Amino acid sequence: MSMDTANSFDNRARDMVETQLRPRGIRDERVLEAMRLVPRHEFVPVGLVDAAYEDRPLSIGERETISQPYIVAAMTQAARVTPADKVLEIGGGSGYQAAILAQMGALVYVVEINPRLADEARARLARLGFETVTVFTGDGSEGLPDHAPYDVIIVSAAAPKVPPVLLEQLAEGGRLVIPVGNLYQQDLLLLWRHGEETTTRRLDPCQFVPLRGRGGWPGERGVRG
Ligand code: SAH
Repeated sequence: MSMDTANSFDNRARDMVETQLRPRGIRDERVLEAMRLVPRHEFVPVGLVDAAYEDRPLSIGERETISQPYIVAAMTQAARVTPADKVLEIGGGSGYQAAILAQMGALVYVVEINPRLADEARARLARLGFETVTVFTGDGSEGLPDHAPYDVIIVSAAAPKVPPVLLEQLAEGGRLVIPVGNLYQQDLLLLWRHGEETTTRRLDPCQFVPLRGRGGWPGERGVRG
């Protein structure tokens, strides 16, 4: 890549932060910095590199999408990620959300059910030097008990309800961010664990691709690309 091209992506990332994120209520400077530094154009198919910093989700093939920048930032901000937090992401897709978390200093475990996407994300994250991310191939709808408990769990696909096992995998003070609703429209929920109590806050309305697997939609093959 030429210097000019690198500079132009850098400017686009800066513009994305100033026009799409900051004015819409993303105020955590550490989130904004990570969104500025992670090269989003590396996480989209070659044909969409030019659209990488636009205000929308993009197709990553296999009828799945990389989430809109604002949604990634909103989920990350809601999760209150601090350096050295242990974070689980369910639905790794391109690996972009995981890279943002790693950029903020988190130790990240990712589960991705689609083997082709998991392989691609694993290779991409390694190539870009995100050494604190481990990508597992499999059904993450019931979490990843082997590495629990987590300070943060982010579910990047739409769930019909909050899978109770995910709350059990949260550490004391842990946060779960998950879109819950029907196949076409969900609310982003933030659940916070304090001892045996859980508080729930409703954040933005959103539209994610469906969570599959045991804790997801029965028989769901995907309705959107
Ligand atoms: N966070 C991603 C976007 C994810 S799209 C990014 O930054 O690019 C949702 C992803 O969830 C898809 O890749 C889909 O294959 C995956 N997925 C759906 N159900 C899953 C499950 N039960 N376990 C793990 N991954 C799942």
